[in-house]
Amino acid sequence: MAKVLIIGAGGVGSVVAHKCAQVPEVFSEIALASRTLSKCEAIGAAVKSRTGQDLEVAQVDADRVTELVALINRVKPALVLNLALPYQDLSIMDACLACGVDYLDTANYEPPDEARFSYSWQWPYHERFRQKGLMALLGSGFDPGVTNVFCAYAAKHYFDEIHYIDILDANAGDHGHPFATNFNPEINIREVSAKGRYWENGQWRETEPLAEKWTFDFPIIGPKNAYLMYHEELESLVLNIKGLKRIRFWMTFSDNYLKHLEVLQNTGMTSIEPVIYQGREIIPLQFLKALLPDPASLGPRTRGKTCIGNIIEGIKDGKPRKIYIYNICDHEECYAEVGSQAISYTTGTPAMIGGMLILSGAWKKAGVFNMEQLDPDPFMEKLNIHGLPWQVKELQTT
Ligand code: NDP
Repeated sequence: MAKVLIIGAGGVGSVVAHKCAQVPEVFSEIALASRTLSKCEAIGAAVKSRTGQDLEVAQVDADRVTELVALINRVKPALVLNLALPYQDLSIMDACLACGVDYLDTANYEPPDEARFSYSWQWPYHERFRQKGLMALLGSGFDPGVTNVFCAYAAKHYFDEIHYIDILDANAGDHGHPFATNFNPEINIREVSAKGRYWENGQWRETEPLAEKWTFDFPIIGPKNAYLMYHEELESLVLNIKGLKRIRFWMTFSDNYLKHLEVLQNTGMTSIEPVIYQGREIIPLQFLKALLPDPASLGPRTRGKTCIGNIIEGIKDGKPRKIYIYNICDHEECYAEVGSQAISYTTGTPAMIGGMLILSGAWKKAGVFNMEQLDPDPFMEKLNIHGLPWQVKELQTT
């Protein structure tokens, strides 16, 4: 039984609040703080009506360590679940260190003025967390998060050596808008418009944005075009999965999404370089975010499913082996359960499970960790129990 503090009252923060409230035997008290208090209050009311649990709510500017320290000292949580934006990772980690509290997030740090997400800012905190006996669990969402645990699970139970990993993320949901992003538009568009990158034979190889395409026949949702992208779990997996020869990440986009994105890029609307407009400095991508539908509003409109999983190839008992391990999640079922679409659900549920495993002691360690560094079994078991069941399929080796 422990108290948690959730920071960030967006699409994912709302799911985490609901999922924690569903497990009061672990999360006996829940506090939710964010920049806009009214959003915390709205989530508090939704959680109360669905689960009967009360949420303590607070306003905080998570860019300010002093405000965070005052909040954490007042709320006194055992664990902080960071569901704000990647820009707040370091300030929240600093506050957790100052207050002696464990930390968890779902996305690695990215400086606001430079589109370059990387663990290189958070890994150096390892020694400070270790010395204080505290844990920071990084990337406990779906991808990164579950996809890292899928790799660890495959390494533990299916392979003696893993050589090739392809992570495939498909969203076949339809929200009925001409163009919208499923999570924070600024983070999403920065990610999608970056150059692709994958790792092969000990080297990073770069591709032009969305230049490599793979038409993959996903279970239940059928064939979709998936595009090679750089994604943050690749950075830790190349270090932690030994013997790897190649790892790539693919995400599906509809032709309609790509058409809109191309026009927005060509007009400069996705730029993070400030421009002067009517005597005021604005950042085009932030202005675009203000125009696009709020991802949290997509829940009631989205139909269809997501399918995220890993194709893993290697050697077992001297023979080649290839498996596909994946989850399918239905947008409408997520909305019925927690009032959010599947993208927020598939991120928020693993965040709750990571928190549960830290609090129960099953994953508690001192230092900064990525998901694949921990025993995958309890996490995989909890996925099946808490709404993200997975399957393993044996595939023909090539
Ligand atoms: P949203 O934009 O919907 O929510 C972010 C929330 O953080 C908002 O409520 C926002 O406040 C709040 N916030 C932003 N800045 C501050 C600040 N300085 N102080 C306090 N609160 C702040 O994003 P999502 O819920 O879609 O995403 C949350 C996180 O999850 C992101 O880091 C995202 O990258 C990550 N993610 C991870 C995935 C994974 O699989 N690993 C997949 C999808 C997302 P306000 O409401 O006032 O704007």
